[in-house]
Amino acid sequence: MTGAELKELRGRLEQEREGISQALGGVLEAGRPVSLDDPIGRLSRMDAMQQQAMAKAQHKLMVEQLDAIELALSRMAEGEFGECLRCGEEIAIARLRARPTATLCVGCQGAREG
Ligand SMILES: [Zn+2]
Repeated sequence: MTGAELKELRGRLEQEREGISQALGGVLEAGRPVSLDDPIGRLSRMDAMQQQAMAKAQHKLMVEQLDAIELALSRMAEGEFGECLRCGEEIAIARLRARPTATLCVGCQGAREG
């Protein structure tokens, strides 16, 4: 991987981290507990609880994404970015472009999923 490619991917990771951090605030707002004192009907309360559950799941997903981005950025700082965590081979740049948080090469990812 060239320095320019690394810089490009780091820029994308930082941008993504920024976007997720901002979106997290909105998700937390949607996921706040439903007050039983709210003057809403039973159906509305179920709607609200369903929305809350969705927000919670979304929040978990976003936190996981943030973790993956942090890991990728720290691996960049260590000069290990782009190395497969399993076999140590270089991960193809096309794969990293599609998913900069990838930590496994195509072969190892396939082995893990299959
Ligand atoms: Zn591998």
